Amino acid sequence: MAYKNPNDQKRNSREWQRKNKDRVNAKNKKWRDKNRKYIAVYDKIRNTVFPEILKAHNVARYIKIPKNSICEICGSPNNLEKHHPDYSDPYLIQILCKDCHTRLHKLKEIGK
Ligand SMILES: [Zn+2]
Ligand SMILES: [Zn+2]
Repeated sequence: MAYKNPNDQKRNSREWQRKNKDRVNAKNKKWRDKNRKYIAVYDKIRNTVFPEILKAHNVARYIKIPKNSICEICGSPNNLEKHHPDYSDPYLIQILCKDCHTRLHKLKEIGK
């Protein structure tokens, strides 16, 4: 009885992909052609906005507002929230009270 060579499996899979490359590519191409409009928009959003916002929010989740913090704008110690002045730097976080935070976003109309 011959042992099954573990490389056989890999080779077979690669073989399959090679043989069916046209089929796989054709299927992908058809889907992309059909959804080209959406893919372009989605790629743009994903590549520009999402990674930084997601990263910033992931970082923010683990950063606690230090005790005895005050709002960086008005000095209030109440209803403090974390604000990202710059999403390209997720570690840059401002502590702002809810009022100032809301006001700031109304001025900027971006991010969270
Ligand atoms: Zn404030
Ligand atoms: Zn904010």
